[in-house]
Amino acid sequence: MDTVRIAVVGAGVMGLSTAVCIFKLVPGCSITVISDKFTPETTSDVAAGMLIPPVYPDTPIHKQKQWFKDTFDHLFAIANSAEAKDAGVLLVSGVKGSGGLVLTRRVEDLWELHPSFNIVVNCSGLGSKQLVGDMEIFPVRGQVLKVQAPWVKHFIRDGSGLTYIYPGIANVTLGGTRQKGDWNLSPNAEISKQILSRCCALEPSLRGACDIREKGPRWHIDLQPWAGPARSLDEEALRFLRYISTIQIACDHMSADSLATDSSPTKKPWSVCLDDRFGLAHQIHSKQCRLYSLGLGSDDTRFEVGMANDGCEVHRFDPSVKSAHVLENERLWYHRLSINWRDPHPAVAAQKPYSSTRKLRTILNEFGHHKIDILKADLESAEWKVLENLILEDVLEQIGQLIFEIHLHWPGFEVSGSDSSVVRFWYSLLKELELQDFRLFHSYKDLSKPQIFLRKNIFNASSCYTLSWVNTRWK
Ligand SMILES: Cc1cc2nc3c(=O)[nH]c(=O)nc-3n(C[C@H](O)[C@H](O)[C@H](O)COP(=O)(O)OP(=O)(O)OC[C@H]3O[C@@H](n4cnc5c(N)ncnc54)[C@H](O)[C@@H]3O)c2cc1C
Repeated sequence: MDTVRIAVVGAGVMGLSTAVCIFKLVPGCSITVISDKFTPETTSDVAAGMLIPPVYPDTPIHKQKQWFKDTFDHLFAIANSAEAKDAGVLLVSGVKGSGGLVLTRRVEDLWELHPSFNIVVNCSGLGSKQLVGDMEIFPVRGQVLKVQAPWVKHFIRDGSGLTYIYPGIANVTLGGTRQKGDWNLSPNAEISKQILSRCCALEPSLRGACDIREKGPRWHIDLQPWAGPARSLDEEALRFLRYISTIQIACDHMSADSLATDSSPTKKPWSVCLDDRFGLAHQIHSKQCRLYSLGLGSDDTRFEVGMANDGCEVHRFDPSVKSAHVLENERLWYHRLSINWRDPHPAVAAQKPYSSTRKLRTILNEFGHHKIDILKADLESAEWKVLENLILEDVLEQIGQLIFEIHLHWPGFEVSGSDSSVVRFWYSLLKELELQDFRLFHSYKDLSKPQIFLRKNIFNASSCYTLSWVNTRWK
């Protein structure tokens, strides 16, 4: 008899445990787990691990009791075994160990898997809404904090179950919220504060827990002092232009792309720094590098193609792409999305859940990406507000190197004020990068562009510069 080929879609706790069970029950089958996200990027990763019996009114109570007892005995045995730390979402290693295949891929339609597989098991969780049109499934948003408090040995839960403290193997989970119908994946700093205060009321020793990030939301960047007493455009512009032309850290090995000169104006100098101390060369070599490229169509994509060929996973965000997500070659994705400095208004988002503009923080959450080794942005004057948003939402710490094309011929989208205050704002944004330990290692003045600075031909400035920074804290 031919081998039975089984695909399990989804790598949360349901998909992986289903795959492992099938292995045990169907000897000799071939099994492939297909998922767009794996640990630590699934819903299952944030679950606290509580076992609470659900109630099924149509099932006789003795049967429900038996199910619950069997489940409890099974999980209790795992919890007390030597494999406890490898259970749950780490079962993926069990899948591989049993000869199973694991594929990273988004499935748009289960029929894609026909005829490669005889049986398809759908364990896509909330993904089922789109994948199989399950209109009854809905999200229940839960926000938690993970803290280091090894002295907490017992779980504590208030009567409603809304506030809880669950110690786990690696950390303690503090919760929570239960927000029905809310798809938002971004943590809310105000909610985190409330959770911490509710949990500390139950267990005061948690005030001593480390790793609690209690940063409040920032609403605006801190403006730098004026460049001089006159608060004039001259003073501001000279400080700014000097700043963007002064290299702050030496880079001995720049990517070949940086070798473009003024004599090859069509090729832009998208420079990355490959010095060993910044880790990027190693990431590329081990094929673990991730590049995000933000653009607005019609851009030259040689840099992206080159980085993909070198081994980077490249995601190009471009609203002019024809399909929602296109895998151009093994490592180069095109997404029909543009990066904005705000998410769509909730009313618009509700009508258009797959709206094509997003904040970078939202995209990172949706894609389950924690780190971007390189962020390249050519946003045609939207760069200032996007950069401001990255700073205010603390996204910078997730980025290894930044390459931004900046445009100086006008203030930029939603930047306003007198000319001197606009330049002071630009300068303050770039100083924020420095404060967060980003250092400028390459600056390119594009002489092929008009020599215009805030609509005037002054200061011998170009209207366009390409700047590259490295995050010196990057690990
Ligand atoms: C804060 C919080 C705390 C919780 N605590 C508990 C708890 O203590 N106890 C408890 O029992 N439950 C808890 N839950 C609920 C529990 O986490 C979920 O019910 C459970 O993780 C669902 O597992 P799953 O495998 O079905 O889904 P998921 O973990 O969401 O996995 C779905 C998988 O399918 C993949 N996928 C989706 N669509 C596609 C597609 N189109 N193509 C390819 N792959 C796709 C995803 O990438 C993912 O790998 C909690 C939930 C939250 C949010």
